Amino acid sequence: MKFSKRIADVPPSATFRYASLAKREGIINLTIGRPGFDPPSVVIEAAKRALEGGKHHYGPSKGIPELREKISERLTRENKIRGIDSEKVIVSMGAKNILYEIIMTLVDRGTKVAIPDPAWVSYESMVKLAEGEVVWLPLNSERGFVPDEEFIDALDHSEAKIVIINTPNNPTGAVYPERVLRDIIAVAEANDMWIISDECYESIVYEGKHFSIGSVYDKTITVGSFSKTYSMTGWRLGYAACPEFEVIDKMNILQQQSVSNPVTFAQYGALACFTPEAQKFSREMREELKRRRDYALKRVSEFACECMKPNGAFYIFPYFEGRDDIKMADAVLEEGVGVVPGSPFGKQGRGCIRLSYGSAKVEELAEAFDRMERVKGIA
Ligand code: PMP
Ligand code: GLU
Repeated sequence: MKFSKRIADVPPSATFRYASLAKREGIINLTIGRPGFDPPSVVIEAAKRALEGGKHHYGPSKGIPELREKISERLTRENKIRGIDSEKVIVSMGAKNILYEIIMTLVDRGTKVAIPDPAWVSYESMVKLAEGEVVWLPLNSERGFVPDEEFIDALDHSEAKIVIINTPNNPTGAVYPERVLRDIIAVAEANDMWIISDECYESIVYEGKHFSIGSVYDKTITVGSFSKTYSMTGWRLGYAACPEFEVIDKMNILQQQSVSNPVTFAQYGALACFTPEAQKFSREMREELKRRRDYALKRVSEFACECMKPNGAFYIFPYFEGRDDIKMADAVLEEGVGVVPGSPFGKQGRGCIRLSYGSAKVEELAEAFDRMERVKGIA
């Protein structure tokens, strides 16, 4: 079989690849980025009621109106996103599918898309699938992977039509301060650029405050997810909102021609995410994740690496100068701990490894760090 050039040029997702390597008996799995909690019981009950109540069929392609209404209210009230209503919101099969739809909708052959380096593994592949051109914007470990003046300058000279910004960040855990985001917005505005603002980890901020770009800049497509906020990665529910209706409308064409609609009963379950019980669940989960972050950071500080304090998400991304991160990830796996090497996230990720503490309790982290200490050159 001769496969399309499109697929031949795209590597498998490194996060999924390393997650499957770590699925052996006895391995402590710090690979895949997911919270390891059961979703709020009110959400599970609501989904069960939906199933028992006959919600087995196709739904509206953009998502059920009740859910789009809740999302738009939340984004308007809490994120202060300007100019949206439920018609300007689309729900799909996870933020991943949403991002794919946005890129397929806006990117032509050769369209330049600026992406911070390092970044979540799938952005580059999605742009490649759309035959666009990635312009990398380097970030540095010594600056905590937060955009600096050089980054802003590189963005200004990128000639990109679109820039993808992700805060809180995967893989670094960095939370970009409002002042930095405002500098990015100023450059985007001066260059008539669109911003895709991936805010999947917005509810997991330990220090500082989450700032939504769409609250001040209208050429923003805000992306959110139920996966991390409510620990619902398997429900596959994410969304996008944009004040320009046409963007959502065109994404909906793609949706009608591909997935048809997000899973109907899952959406009825997700309606319960907006209850006080689910909000409490999310706050308590963040507290537990913070305990894990503090513990992991303490242990990592004893390693021979450079590691800033990640203020959000559930990743730690230490940099080991002069080390080959792929070999390091292999050696760590040999000792019984699964991690993802940094280089698949971009050139600036070389020498780094990503540890996800989202699904490992403190006791498991303790054992994982004890094992990692045995790897030559790490401690
Ligand atoms: N964006 C980022 C930065 C992510 O880390 C992920 C994966 N968790 C996604 C988008 C996709 O999330 P999901 O499809 O589960 O909503
Ligand atoms: N985003 C998570 C991660 O980075 C889940 C896997 C994926 O979607 O890439 O591990």
